Amino acid sequence: MMNVKPATAKISSVALKHNIQMIKQKAPNSQIIAVVKANAYGHGVVFVSSVIEEMVDCFGVARLEEALKLRSTGITKPILLLEGFFAEKDLPILAVNNIQTIVHNREQLTALQQASVPDKIKVWLKIDTGMHRLGVRADQVDDFYQALKNCPNIDREIGFVSHFSRADELDSDYTEKQLTCFLTAIQDKPGERSISASGGILFWPQAHLDWIRPGIIMYGISPNNTPSREYGLIPVMTLTSSLIAVREHKKGEPVGYGGRWISDKDTKIGVVAIGYGDGYPRDIPSGTPVFLNGRLVPIVGTVSMDMLTVDLGVDSQDRVGDEVILWGKELPIEEIAAISGILSYELITKLTPRVLTEYI
Ligand code: PLP
Repeated sequence: MMNVKPATAKISSVALKHNIQMIKQKAPNSQIIAVVKANAYGHGVVFVSSVIEEMVDCFGVARLEEALKLRSTGITKPILLLEGFFAEKDLPILAVNNIQTIVHNREQLTALQQASVPDKIKVWLKIDTGMHRLGVRADQVDDFYQALKNCPNIDREIGFVSHFSRADELDSDYTEKQLTCFLTAIQDKPGERSISASGGILFWPQAHLDWIRPGIIMYGISPNNTPSREYGLIPVMTLTSSLIAVREHKKGEPVGYGGRWISDKDTKIGVVAIGYGDGYPRDIPSGTPVFLNGRLVPIVGTVSMDMLTVDLGVDSQDRVGDEVILWGKELPIEEIAAISGILSYELITKLTPRVLTEYI
């Protein structure tokens, strides 16, 4: 019986738990803020957060809506708004729902001072140590810290956070400089400290401090283009689809829109049911591999909205309905990232809602 399945992301709870264990081994003395923003990096936030809640200490999200979604699905662990993305009217909602936030500017401080909230809010002061995106400068820390301390709406335990901009570059001393700047700025203050995301966790043990904030490595993907298995991680997502046609193809014939790839031999072309409408990159170069029946075969021609084409070779025994893996354990997403020039972070978060999800 012919059976074809559309683009499907298979999400493994076993891999997810394995990765958290690896992270705990790497940073045994740090508590974990599990970063599940952007729908858990495209992996499905409801599933991911429920699988790992008992293994982590806090969840990190970017938007208040993301935090409230976690609460509505029964997550009770603390939640941190990593970018401090809130309006003044949101503060009572933060207080009621035990949602912590970072503070990185004076407008937020004023809002916290003026708010009427039913409970105290836990805040983390964000310090700009070199990313130069969000955060107060090191010479403003005393000023902000005192103001936060004096604010009756704020929990007395104030944390300190910063963010590395180049932690995946092992040959740069920039990360060390950022760490020194951070520790110097807060040296005379009590309060928990957090500066490491995935790059810091893997490569800079001296920067683990009290709290780590893993995102991409939890999903079994490297923060750089080195396949994650080299760091003992297992990809959580396997992106699959299936062959919907196997066609005889003659030497000299082009394939797909624009006829950009022309075969230099007689071959068989497989048509795979995934395209840029599913979030697979349209501009991926011919030659990028997919995994099919135990081997790698190259994508040829332009990726369409719903399909892409692969060169199966003239001796192919592949059949309509066979499963094709676009990335996963068999084909590291880091390889696709390296070939396409698109970060793994972007590849996974760009998948569209049309892609089915199967939790395994
Ligand atoms: N912490 C903050 C403040 C972030 O913005 C992010 C992600 O962008 C993370 C942690 C997690 O980063 P990664 O996915 O590299 O671990």
